[in-house]
Amino acid sequence: MGRKPIIAGNWKMNLLKAQAKELFEGIKGYVSQYTAVELPTVVIAPVFTSLSAVEDVKCDCGCGGKKISIACQNCHWEQSGAYTGEISVEMAKDAGCDYIIIGHSERRQYFSETDEMINKKAKAILAGGLIPIICCGETLEQREAGVTDSHIASQIKAALNDISSEDIAKSVIAYEPIWAIGTGKTCDAVEANRVIAMIRNVVKEVAGENAADAIRILYGGSVKPNTIEEQMRQSDIDGALVGGASLKADSFNEIIANTMKTMA
Ligand code: 13P
Repeated sequence: MGRKPIIAGNWKMNLLKAQAKELFEGIKGYVSQYTAVELPTVVIAPVFTSLSAVEDVKCDCGCGGKKISIACQNCHWEQSGAYTGEISVEMAKDAGCDYIIIGHSERRQYFSETDEMINKKAKAILAGGLIPIICCGETLEQREAGVTDSHIASQIKAALNDISSEDIAKSVIAYEPIWAIGTGKTCDAVEANRVIAMIRNVVKEVAGENAADAIRILYGGSVKPNTIEEQMRQSDIDGALVGGASLKADSFNEIIANTMKTMA
């Protein structure tokens, strides 16, 4: 359907500036041999204090694309003001970001982020001209109780509430089963694809067929170089949000390489 895959590295709360720079250089060196047309959309998401140690890498083949784009891992929905410890969309943009990850399960769990907050953030990000990467996913208890689909459908409907179909079409969703994050227990590719197709159906319900066809939906949760190819060969999985394996240039680059094998 012509959706360009995304390989995004969520560096979480890791790497000092010099380490972030070193990892960035390792990825930049690898992607330099390809054009942005050949590559998936490559996104890296360092901590705020390391945003200045990385930079986006524009393609020089005339395609107007980027070989590396930058994301941050959170934002506030207000533009400025008395919100100690927060950063705004405009500040993220000012630091070079094109994407902002929101609603990660770690933020929902440890920082009490609600669906309503995630919806406000998504609206602010889109209004600011950036792209939200909206995370969703079920716990092991929810999966065992058979409520995976209803839980995720409700997370997605809440996150996309009152957002135009055009804006939804530009957005990115990441399905990250919580039990698969950092555990080495990758969700079976066929099952991940089933849930992602279900999410696409929810998008179709709320925003219509064009938005459902255009929106890119990623899988996240213990993605490794040896899991990505099978994941990318599924009908509805448009890429990956990678945690642990994005912290080493070798493994992240191998994930990019194995994704390219599926793009031909
Ligand atoms: P891992 O790849 O380490 O399981 O992390 C996934 C994740 O949470 C990405 O946002």
